[in-house]
Amino acid sequence: MANSETGSPDTTLITLFAFSTYISILEWMKTQLKFSFMLAVLILLSVGLFWDQAYACDETVIIDSVEYSVTELWCGRVLDSTAIAKPEQLVQLPQELTYEDYRIYVLPVTREAFVNMAATALEDSVVLLADSGWRSLSFQRRIIRNRMAAGDSFDKVLNSVAPPGYSEHHTGRAIDLCPSEARFAFTETYLWLVAHAAEFGFYETLPQDPKAPLTWESWHWTYLPVTDSLSIK
Ligand SMILES: [Zn+2]
Repeated sequence: MANSETGSPDTTLITLFAFSTYISILEWMKTQLKFSFMLAVLILLSVGLFWDQAYACDETVIIDSVEYSVTELWCGRVLDSTAIAKPEQLVQLPQELTYEDYRIYVLPVTREAFVNMAATALEDSVVLLADSGWRSLSFQRRIIRNRMAAGDSFDKVLNSVAPPGYSEHHTGRAIDLCPSEARFAFTETYLWLVAHAAEFGFYETLPQDPKAPLTWESWHWTYLPVTDSLSIK
């Protein structure tokens, strides 16, 4: 009986003790959770920094005295300086083979192969017209400068334009065919090139490939590419 009389305050004490312990455990868990959360954030930040450092491109180009970092898309694709053709190495393509009689320059080997290929294509009633050939580094800078003047950021321009020193057009081996736009892929000319260009040493170096980092340019064909920097395969 005595026990039952004093039992009630004991139970209250035990309940209070249990409750406060429970609250303490909850508090401790909250601290732990906060700690775990902060630890997770720190780990993620460290991984992010490491990733950025590991994959940051240290290649830069200069446009109008401003140094820009090359975007990831182009990183590691810079042409070897020996692959860049000098103006004195170039010859003009016959103007009847160029769009609106453009003056287009390429290496002599490219010219010879293109003239042969165009003649054979014509026998199949396919007309090959060049739209662009060799480009200087300053021309490539001008393209980027104009796009930036129109409001695009350097990084955005690089989504569709090669930085100076990175374009296969610098080699004097690449030729853009007319029309140099997406609809070229649906022309008879494109189908003819796919079937026959390799016989003349021309290759589609920016082919359609869902895994390819660079955009498909069906109109861009290169005579015996000297570098695999643009090759996606
Ligand atoms: Zn091109």
